Amino acid sequence: MSKQSIYGLTFEQLTSWLLEHGHKKFRASQVWDWLYQKRVTTFSEMTNINKECLQLLEEHFEFQTLTEHIKQESADGTIKFLFKLNDGNLIETVLMRQKYGLSVCVTTQVGCNIGCSFCASGLLTKDRDLSSGEIVEQIMKVQLYLDSVGKGERVSHIVIMGIGEPFDNFENMVDFLDIMKDQKGLAIGARHITVSTSGLVNKIYEFADLQSQVNLAISLHAPNDELRTRIMKINRAYPIKKLMEAIDYYIEKTNRRITLEYILLKDVNDHKEHALELAELIADKRKLAYVNLIPYNPVSEHSQYQRSTKEAIRTFYDTLKKKGINCVVRMEHGTDIDAACGQLRSKQMKKKQKQKV
Ligand code: SF4
Repeated sequence: MSKQSIYGLTFEQLTSWLLEHGHKKFRASQVWDWLYQKRVTTFSEMTNINKECLQLLEEHFEFQTLTEHIKQESADGTIKFLFKLNDGNLIETVLMRQKYGLSVCVTTQVGCNIGCSFCASGLLTKDRDLSSGEIVEQIMKVQLYLDSVGKGERVSHIVIMGIGEPFDNFENMVDFLDIMKDQKGLAIGARHITVSTSGLVNKIYEFADLQSQVNLAISLHAPNDELRTRIMKINRAYPIKKLMEAIDYYIEKTNRRITLEYILLKDVNDHKEHALELAELIADKRKLAYVNLIPYNPVSEHSQYQRSTKEAIRTFYDTLKKKGINCVVRMEHGTDIDAACGQLRSKQMKKKQKQKV
């Protein structure tokens, strides 16, 4: 019988599971406390749980579904972890030091099927979804690392922006959010969590209906269909008009601010005309839409794309501002350590392939 990750259960799921297996409800609180407050890494350390219950847990669940394969530390304090899953696949998780706290970027799938033309992860198609336990364990591994350093630091923010399309692994992502937000556990506030989607319209509606207070970011990257389809083939299935309707629904339903991600690619989507077109596209959402301008990190696999010049970035930003659009140029992290999403993983995968040949 293959075991499930103990980190994959929400508190309610753990409670029901224990009840179904003949144990008292309060055991769930005890196990939860060992997992997320005391942060033990074996069942045998749960000293107030009776033997019978421990044995049952050991039979059905495991602690470790990923192991650290590589850890790269940047001069700015960013740490990139490459984890190996039990099936040998590799995934990336990144710890970033922000002014407001410690933020972790997690991966939700092994590879990605969305195939954005600028992305190192999109080069390697999806192998499988990560389980909720594998997503939670990324946070736990980073937290355990921080615990081991001994400065009392805590993961305070989460961005679901690593490899994969989180809305293509919706149920596991929702369980992950529940586990992270649980007040008896890590208690990371919903407003400290951001999920980023390439724009799976039907799932944006579903997410809005959850009214979870978790922040939503949408990868827009272009102000018109022709250009967006060139950059992101997902635009064929979910063109801009449909996306904008879903965004309107989300804003109406949640009254929450939405972030629009816009990666700046030199001479592709970074001209002043593009900024003007973008400002017009979102003019009616000015109050609640926030544009995040992302200077592109070139990857060798996509030599057709270059980083925008500083002047082009400035002009783009100024143009949006003059039109009353809230925007910011994203701060970069770990530029000295394979900064682009999926870059470290794809490098390692290539190395592996070469070794096989
Ligand atoms: S940018 Fe995100 S959605 Fe697009 S291919 Fe890369 S991982 Fe997938």
